[in-house]
Parts: sequence; C-alpha cells; structure tokens
Amino acid sequence: MNDQMPKSPDQQPNDPVERLADLRHEFGEHGGVNMSIAASTTFTVLEAGTMPEIFEGNLGPHEGGCYLYGRHFNPTVFVLGRQLAAMEGAEAGYCASSGLGAIAAALLGCLEQGDHVVASDTLYGGTWSMLAKFLPAKCGMTTTFVDITDHDAVTEAMNERTKVVYTESLTNPTLRVPNLPVLAKIAHHHDAQLIVDNTFAPLAITPIEHGADIVVHSLTKFINGASDFIAGTVVGRGTFIGSLMDLHTGPLMLLGPTMDPQVAHSISLRLPHLPIRMIEHARRAQEFAHRLTAVGVKTVYPGLEDHPDHEIFHQIGRPEYGFGGLLTIDTGTTELAEKLMEDLQNVEGFGFMAVSLGYFDTLMSCSASSTSSEMDEHSLSKAGVTPGLIRMSIGLTGSLEQRWDQFERSLKRCGLISD
Ligand SMILES: *Cc1c(COP(=O)(O)O)cnc(C)c1O
Repeated sequence: MNDQMPKSPDQQPNDPVERLADLRHEFGEHGGVNMSIAASTTFTVLEAGTMPEIFEGNLGPHEGGCYLYGRHFNPTVFVLGRQLAAMEGAEAGYCASSGLGAIAAALLGCLEQGDHVVASDTLYGGTWSMLAKFLPAKCGMTTTFVDITDHDAVTEAMNERTKVVYTESLTNPTLRVPNLPVLAKIAHHHDAQLIVDNTFAPLAITPIEHGADIVVHSLTKFINGASDFIAGTVVGRGTFIGSLMDLHTGPLMLLGPTMDPQVAHSISLRLPHLPIRMIEHARRAQEFAHRLTAVGVKTVYPGLEDHPDHEIFHQIGRPEYGFGGLLTIDTGTTELAEKLMEDLQNVEGFGFMAVSLGYFDTLMSCSASSTSSEMDEHSLSKAGVTPGLIRMSIGLTGSLEQRWDQFERSLKRCGLISD
C-alpha cells in the first residue's frame, strides 16, 4: 500500500498527465504490476486499542493506513481517489458509486438547511432536478438558475445565504464554457465555494487551477470509456474530503453511495490511456464539426472558431487534449432528429441512440426529450435546448473516413443536405 499524498499544489507539475505519472506506482501483492484489489468489507487491527482511535478519526488512511469498514475508506478506492485528485491538481479526493452520488455529497458537504446555490441553467438533468426539486423539498436548500456566462446575472443572484456556485466545465448540452476564473472570484467574494462538474472535459479543462474549490465527475462517461459501470468522484481540499467521510456528519459515509473496490481497480486501469482516448475523441469531433459546417448543417462545437467560447476554452483549456468529444447539430424538428438518428443507427451502423457519453462508439440522443427532459419547456428554451438538437458523443472505433461516409449518406437520405 502506498500512502504517498499528492504534493502540495505549488510543487506539482502543471500537466494533469504528468501529475498522474508522478504518483508512485501501486504494486500488487506478489509484485503484480497492477495494484491488488482490497476486496474486504472490514479490516482487522493488531491491537484492540487501535479501534477506538480509528473511530475518533485518528489513524485513518491519511495518518498511517489503518482502515475500518468498507463504507468508510477502502484502500483500492482510496488509491483511485488520489489518482483522480492528482489528475485534477487537488489535494485529496474520494469516490462514489455514481456521479450523482458524488454531486449530492459535494453539495450536502457545503450546504446547511436554508442555504442557497447559484447554478448554471444548463445542467445535466439529474443535477438540475436535485437542485430544483429534491434539495428544496427535502432539505430547504434553494437554487437560483442563471446563464452562467452572464457574470452580472451571477453576481445579482448571490445573497448572504449563497454557499455554492455550481456549473459544468462544458455545459450540457449547449457546450458553453464558463469563465471559471471570473466565477471563482465572484464566489469567493461572497464566501461561497465554486463546484465544477468536469465530466465532459477531463484533462482538457482542469478547474482547480482556475479557482474552483471542488471538482466532481461522473466516472461513468469518458473516464470509464466503455460504458460498463456507473461511478463518480469528488476532489478538493483535504479537510473538505475528510469532512465528507466524517463518521457522524459526512454525506459520503452516511448516505452510503460507496464505490466497490473492484470498480475502483477497473477505473484505475483506464486512466493511463485516458489522454490518448480524449485526443482521438476530440480529433474526430473537430473534423466532423468542420465538415458538417461546410455542408451546411448547424453545428455547435467549442473547437470551431465561431463558437462563442472558443477563446475562453483556449485561455483555460489545454488544446493538446482538444476541445472535447461532444458536438451538437440542430436538425430543426424532433421528427427530423429522430429520423436521422434511426437512419444513422439502423441503416448505417454509425453509432447508437442512447443517452450517456464518452463511450468508444458514437452515442446520440435528442437532448430536449431525453437527458434534459427533467427541465420544463420554459427552462429548455431559455437555455437554448431546441427540439431538433441532437447531442453526439463522437466515438473512436472504425476509421474517420468510414464514419464520415456513413454520416454523409444519412444526412442526404434525411434531406438535411443535398445530393
Ligand atoms: C452522467 C452525468 C452525471 C451523473 O452521473 P452518473 O454517474 O450517471 O450518476 C452528472 N453530470 C454530468 C455532466 C453527466 O454527464
């Protein structure tokens, strides 16, 4: 077991991949090149007196590697948490059984009853429901939704109970890029924390370096890469992550969204090729965005020069990892969107009609009637989520030319481009 903590931020390399490589490698038992899976729900101690000390919060994994019970820290999950923290340039991190579990824990870790959140009006549907419906009804925590790129609107929405400013690093499905340094400044001026969901842009954007206090991920998407299980993480300051695991008040500990060590092990093995995958997803998305625009299909992609946030992505992003693997096209109507997706899937085999993203094959969904359907019609139109909008998570299987030929044939058959 390797208990090396990430270096303090000023000692860390500037690049997320270098930070990850800088963590001393975990060896497995018997010298395995991969770490072993600590598949135990409970952990023994050599001396009975150690147990009360662990319960008092001393002698945990940070203080010498004593473990207690699997819903608290597990060694394998702890390693993955440290790796993801290193990737994001955070002091500490831990994992959850889903992205939404991590998001709930991050929010409940920051908020008390009666507190207030200022959030982007374009969020993942589940997060939107949690903030708009669940937290007000169950916990008396309220949210004002604003256009997160309108900094006056953000400032105006802040009040004396605002404890969190919440946004996604690349908004869903509108693919806007919030100006994180400005948002951090506004949040900190009001003693609030900036939470950023970085699920859409791992490696390409590293929010902590731009002032974010807490970063959450759904590990179900790009970081997973194979759409085979649900998982999440939250990274931030060591004291904050510790508070989430508190035996009496920690939401990760008490609400129980525990990550299985087998899942942690599997995700850990996918981190080394995440950079290669992100670069290829982005290379293809960029090329498709150019070609779609050229044939007259209304396309949104942050890598296009006419995208409203192309500049800010350049400023805060890492262009070497590209501008992300997602693009959207607007077909005009729900009917056309559905016709095109069916053709792409059932005639061409271009990809799958399915929600989610970051899979090795292309996934496509009509946002207004799927992943954003929790939002009401007014919120949808205000956020620019039109009925004919198709969100595509561009895959990396097959060849780019083969996929483009399929795409072009479907667009023609659906009358979206002329022969
Ligand atoms: C999928 C997703 C979530 C929720 O993650 P789960 O792992 O499904 O719980 C949160 N935020 C974003 C941006 C997502 O895409």
